[in-house]
Amino acid sequence: MAIRVMVWNEYLHEKQAAEVAAVYPKGIHGCIADFLQAAGMAVRTATLEEPEHGLTQAVLDDTDVLIWWGHMAHERVADEIVERVYRRVLDGMGLIVLHSGHASKIFQKLCGTDSGMLKWREDGEQEILWVVDPSHPIVAGLGEKIMIPHEEMYGEHFNIPQPDEQVFISWFEGGEVFRSGCCWHRGKGKVFYFRPGHEAFPVYHQAEIQQVITNAVRWAAPIDFPKVTYGNPPPVVEIPARAE
Ligand code: ZN
Repeated sequence: MAIRVMVWNEYLHEKQAAEVAAVYPKGIHGCIADFLQAAGMAVRTATLEEPEHGLTQAVLDDTDVLIWWGHMAHERVADEIVERVYRRVLDGMGLIVLHSGHASKIFQKLCGTDSGMLKWREDGEQEILWVVDPSHPIVAGLGEKIMIPHEEMYGEHFNIPQPDEQVFISWFEGGEVFRSGCCWHRGKGKVFYFRPGHEAFPVYHQAEIQQVITNAVRWAAPIDFPKVTYGNPPPVVEIPARAE
């Protein structure tokens, strides 16, 4: 069965700035949806200004992996929707947070740190993403590095909890480095943060970046989870009587 992906985008930059619309005529969500669809996934999109931001309980229940792009309007995302997404992640829905989504309410809640804190500079510097875990499924089919000609710089320290799996580290022309591809497990859910994707540069049109996001969807998709139980059960194996 095809993986059911929901691509969520704030979708404000594209409507407010002609230069961003020129890079992403169908919105960032439209660009991402197109390449995931071409990879055989069942893709839908939703945006901030739809009722319930397009993320009703029914929609989330029908989603295997949610992709999140937001930047200027994190505060406009309703707390009750954030809580709904959070519950679904703990229950097994994958979440991929892109670029400026590091400061989104949902990512902050899942991190438990102030993940909004990092260094940034918008100079169109070159970025090199180095693969630091060549065995990871998210780097399948890639070379040992991805070169992006022009990007916004993000630099350490990035205030995140130590990743469970570190996949990429970036170098920037101005000297900074950044943990650009990070995985965490939260409950039954898998979370991947992927740094590239400033709205003014055509980063999501780049083949290797599309490959990473496609691989990440496959990695984050729920498996046929073992049924786990909690509480106060009797022993599974009879416990032998002990001498008094
Ligand atoms: Zn940016």
